[in-house]
Amino acid sequence: MKPAAPHSLLLSSLCLALCCLGGARGSRRSGNHEWKKLIMVHHWPVTVCKEVENDCRDPPDYWTIHGLWPDKAEECNGSWPFNLEEIKDLLPKMKMYWPDVIHPLNHSHFWKHEWEKHGTCAAQVDALNSQKKYFGGSLDLYQGLALNSMLQKLGIKPSINYYQISDIKDALAGIYGVIPKVQCLPPKQGEEVQTIGQIELCFTKELRLRNCTEPGEPGGAGGAGGPGLEVCEDGPAFYPPPQQTAP
Ligand code: 5GP
Repeated sequence: MKPAAPHSLLLSSLCLALCCLGGARGSRRSGNHEWKKLIMVHHWPVTVCKEVENDCRDPPDYWTIHGLWPDKAEECNGSWPFNLEEIKDLLPKMKMYWPDVIHPLNHSHFWKHEWEKHGTCAAQVDALNSQKKYFGGSLDLYQGLALNSMLQKLGIKPSINYYQISDIKDALAGIYGVIPKVQCLPPKQGEEVQTIGQIELCFTKELRLRNCTEPGEPGGAGGAGGPGLEVCEDGPAFYPPPQQTAP
């Protein structure tokens, strides 16, 4: 075989370098949109309000949906705009279970953001390949998981007493049969412990429950879904009760 001419070698090395660079920088935005699992992200509205230091009024006192996120892909189709009309039948449930906790007077910006960033990637699977199916399917998964009633049953309620993160994770794993991921706000200055913010439960592309992390694997970095959220440290955590606002 004829050896490659030096200039073509140079060209292919350049292409390889550009591809690698593109992969590293753009794997979440463009190019490679391969993903393996779907993450149903529940967030605790009281903590969302604390995280953004916004004066939310009366956040819901139940876990709501943050999003349904493919694990390794974001913004997969910029030419598929969000259309509120397509989910109009779902609006009562969307407002109840998938509210914009930060801007409760206008939920649709949040839904648009979730569709563009995550839904356009989730739409690779037939069961989620339209806006109606993505939002409707997410609501079905959320209602099927029934996290709020499971936590109640387990006796895990917002409290001024702290919980051990391992107790919460073990209790959830016992109920769902898979390893969840729990995320917290690290303690701020003057605070003793981290604050519970998100609970993630993961699904296969066939929408069957699966582990979010494998046994022995640390909580897993990335995808925390908020400026201050991190995988919770083992140890005590605060599950903050809703604050009562004056009537
Ligand atoms: P992602 O962009 O991956 O969907 O989620 C992360 C972002 O969502 C963070 O910037 C976080 O502050 C924001 N976020 C979390 N909960 C809410 C919410 O209820 N409403 C809005 N508008 N943003 C939220």
